[in-house]
Amino acid sequence: MLSLSQWPKRDDLYKHLDSLLSTSADPLALTALLIINLDNFRDSCELFEYRDIEEFLAIVGQSIKDACPESSYIAWLGSDEFAVVPALQAAAEVKETAETICQKLAEAKEFRDRQVHITGSLGYALFPYDARDRYELIRNATMAMNWVKKQGKNGFARFEPAMSQQVNRKMKLISDFGPALEQQQFRLQYQPQVIVASRAIVGAEALLRWQHPEYNLIPPLEFIPLAEESGYINQIGEWVLCQACRDFNTWLEKGIVLERLAVNVSIVQLQKPDFAKRVLHALEEARLDPAYLELEITESQSMDLPKVKPQIEQLRNHGVRFAIDDFGTGFASLNHLRYMGFDTIKIDKAYIHNILTNNRDQVIVNSILNMAKHLQLGIIAEGVETDDQWRYIQQTAIKEVQGYYCSPPVDRPVLEDLIRKKCL
Ligand code: C2E
Ligand code: CA
Ligand code: CA
Repeated sequence: MLSLSQWPKRDDLYKHLDSLLSTSADPLALTALLIINLDNFRDSCELFEYRDIEEFLAIVGQSIKDACPESSYIAWLGSDEFAVVPALQAAAEVKETAETICQKLAEAKEFRDRQVHITGSLGYALFPYDARDRYELIRNATMAMNWVKKQGKNGFARFEPAMSQQVNRKMKLISDFGPALEQQQFRLQYQPQVIVASRAIVGAEALLRWQHPEYNLIPPLEFIPLAEESGYINQIGEWVLCQACRDFNTWLEKGIVLERLAVNVSIVQLQKPDFAKRVLHALEEARLDPAYLELEITESQSMDLPKVKPQIEQLRNHGVRFAIDDFGTGFASLNHLRYMGFDTIKIDKAYIHNILTNNRDQVIVNSILNMAKHLQLGIIAEGVETDDQWRYIQQTAIKEVQGYYCSPPVDRPVLEDLIRKKCL
């Protein structure tokens, strides 16, 4: 039986690298470090008994060893991560070895009478070109491995400085959230929600913008995930709610009346036990009737909904409504969503984008419409951009849309003008 117990571990690898980098006769001799992490290994583990996992990892380790030139140094870094210091002299050979390792990993492995398919992500860095010392060599090879993961896994890459710039930007953005809140770098734009039959504006969705002092306007798709990861989404989301409620109430006081204020919330916010209380507080502060507010949660976060159902219920009891955003991109069933307390389905813009040409998308949209009608859920189509799409939607049961065809997200005064004109 293969076993990893005798393999060099992380500490041994560090010592080995130190000895290579410091005592080498030629201080500029090439030393490569390859870091390999298996893809989705946790999912594969579910196939095994717990005690089998290490044995399977030993088989994987052996296939890595088989792909390397003889007398290469191979360490098991714990869990599903391995490192290789290949016995090679040239950068081109290292690349070839990286490729061979990935190929060998992807070959089906025979284990306990079954074929197991796995893949790996491999990053590597070369001393002295990509790193000045052992610390940088490990950091940069790991960064390259993480970069491969983000690009879709199952592949290899050599470290490039641009990878560290990406990470630096991420770290900088996270550390800039605090000052951004203090210095009011966030602002809201609003996109009208329009009734198809009359072209009247019924509602507006608040969309967050970050005017960063150095990077200029940063798209929410870049910074919202970082805010979720770092926990700042709670403070930022609260600012969005309070500001949007205040804006909406100012409109009402000016006689600019809409039925709905749509605000995006992250599931991270809902997981805070005092979320419902905070929303009700924001409404109260702005003196806004909860019946105007519709909170949007994206379908991709819907697997965590059961945990937050009590928060949803509490808010629904006060009249707040809920919409599921980007519907069709995840796996949530409409039945389940109805049960969770959703009132509205927002059909993802990807479906609308292809609606004229893709028969499959037409069929999916039609079945969403049928189900929604049956379950008495409201429907909004997102991402309507062209005249043709608008005309197609007029033929369907879709009553409301949002999209560039009617208006992009705009600043508050522009929306006020649009609403005063009554319709688009
Ligand atoms: P979303 O909630 O699906 O918002 C709609 C996005 O589609 C907006 O992008 C909007 O500008 C864009 N859009 C509108 N009409 C069209 C169209 O006709 N065609 C195309 N191609 N796009 C259209 P934006 O403003 O960049 O926001 C991206 C996402 O960021 C939002 O997607 C939402 O998930 C998230 N987001 C924005 N503001 C907030 C916020 O305050 N809190 C949270 N948690 N997420 C937010
Ligand atoms: Ca939304
Ligand atoms: Ca959406």
